[in-house]
Amino acid sequence: MPQRRRTSLLALAGLTAGVAVAGPAGPVSAAPTAEKVPLAVGTGGAVATVDPDATRIGLDVLADGGNAADAAVAAAAALGVTEPYSAGVGGGGFFVYYDAGSGEVSTIDGRETAPMAMGATAFLGEDGEPLPFADAVNSGLSVGTPGTPRTWERALEEFGTKSLRDVLSGPTALARDGFVVDETFRQQTADNEERFRLFPATAELFLPGGQLPEVGSVFRNPDLARTYRQLAARGVDSFYDGRLADEIAATAQDPQEAEGVPEAYDGLLTSADLAAYDAPLREATKVEYRGLEVYGMAPPSSGGTTVGEALNILDEHNLASIPAADRLHHYLEAGALAFADRNAYVGDPAYTQVPVDELLSEGFAAERSCEIDPTAAAVKPVPAGVPDGEYAPCGTADGASVQDTAAGVSTTHLTVADAEGNIASYTLTIEQTGGSGITVPGRGFLLNNELTDFTFAPADLTQPEPNLPAPGKRPRSSMAPTIVLDDGEPLMALGSPGGSTIITTVLQTLVNRVDANMRLDEAIAAPRATPRNTASVNAEPAFLQAHGAELTALGHAFSETAEIGAATAVEFLPTPEGRTPLLLAAAETTRRGGGSAGVVDDVYATTTTKAATDLAPRLVD
Ligand code: GLU
Repeated sequence: MPQRRRTSLLALAGLTAGVAVAGPAGPVSAAPTAEKVPLAVGTGGAVATVDPDATRIGLDVLADGGNAADAAVAAAAALGVTEPYSAGVGGGGFFVYYDAGSGEVSTIDGRETAPMAMGATAFLGEDGEPLPFADAVNSGLSVGTPGTPRTWERALEEFGTKSLRDVLSGPTALARDGFVVDETFRQQTADNEERFRLFPATAELFLPGGQLPEVGSVFRNPDLARTYRQLAARGVDSFYDGRLADEIAATAQDPQEAEGVPEAYDGLLTSADLAAYDAPLREATKVEYRGLEVYGMAPPSSGGTTVGEALNILDEHNLASIPAADRLHHYLEAGALAFADRNAYVGDPAYTQVPVDELLSEGFAAERSCEIDPTAAAVKPVPAGVPDGEYAPCGTADGASVQDTAAGVSTTHLTVADAEGNIASYTLTIEQTGGSGITVPGRGFLLNNELTDFTFAPADLTQPEPNLPAPGKRPRSSMAPTIVLDDGEPLMALGSPGGSTIITTVLQTLVNRVDANMRLDEAIAAPRATPRNTASVNAEPAFLQAHGAELTALGHAFSETAEIGAATAVEFLPTPEGRTPLLLAAAETTRRGGGSAGVVDDVYATTTTKAATDLAPRLVD
């Protein structure tokens, strides 16, 4: 692959492809890294996920000659085993891919679709009021046509080098042989215990022997191993057509509740909806930020347009040489402005005209950026702007204010890069942690509740609402798998779970890395706040401790929240001419129990005390 134009690292100039060398921290093992560590640096490919088994399986595929697409599908399928409450074949997601050969960034839209029988009032009760959210979640009504198996098939067809059978072999063995239960898995099960007991097939699978799985015990999912074997042997069509498709539809239409519990709402999903499902390729969103090219997911996700608009707004301001509180003030304001526009304009582009080009135009950003007063926070919620192509420099934009709708806090993001320079940035979900709570009996996976991402009822009847349910429609997402290039060369990729906080986690991590010049793992670990145009901004305790007083003095209001997001990322470090790329993989230190960063060939044996200047080269002057 072409080499980066940034300065080579003298300290790492001795690197050779595939050969482990002694790094500053001591002797280095050539064995793949796959512990629960937040940082790994090396060559041969990199994988960052929330889970060590998934990272290991991704690294195995890379070490076996697979590329980033192959490894990403394998890691995702492994997460279906170890993170079954966030990821799995019963859900959907968005796959963003940089192909080093063509230099193109492509995306796959694997979002769930509404059944053809679903109309605009599907989530209203007989009284015309929105259904209670929790009842809608734990029901067949919230189950959209799963998009994940088609996404895997498409990713391998378009970008991969291995067959589905090959990449599913590691995950199938993991499902069959089991994984060691950690505190996060036990806690997530405990948090869902009550609703899992509503559905016997789910309780049987995730509460073995009627109990919460013990930390340290081995959790096996032979049903899922069988489902993966079926996909390997008979292909993804066997998920969308035939017996399994019929079982999925029947389960959504009539979830089998435990005796004595009130009946959940029946779903509308049919075998015909499954048979008609497609995961289309879509053009990625693209903005320039500080001279870097930032690619994201276009509608029906609001990830690419909202991260992109906020970056465009911030690009109007120099954030590198101002105090942290001022930088964060700009971040909070830009987030609010971009969220106002997201809520007003973004939905499934097949059903509503989304002004993507205007939302991401420099003219619109310049107009919106006039709304930022460097010395005072605007009153929230701020109104949406008017992305109509007519922009006045610092004029008075007039628009509607729309509140954010509910979003879950589940999902998972994985980031993979290979030695050729290909990158996969993939966010997948079943919506809430535990999805709808409904398992397809005997199949080993939960069904999503993605359709609760639709807006149940318009907040303001005088304004168009782009995210109401409709037949075949995809609910608006916030997933923001992102890839950053520098002059067309791979630089970085990242993403996160967290419902609508995904957008701000990606945005804040980019600002931390690019403007504050933090090392990528530190950019992830830094305390977060999530500006989504709400009167009070959710922020982590450490954020409030560090910046709360100064930002409150500027007029920001905060509500404390324990944890926001769970990011993973990969960066291409400057690499001497002619050498294999040096990669840095980064994951969370503590959020969601900590993530797992790994590389095929380790450069450093430990993950501590790296030289910040080597591993966080300045990205902007
Ligand atoms: N369903 C959410 C979305 O598509 C993701 C769920 C979550 O991260 O909590 O935006």
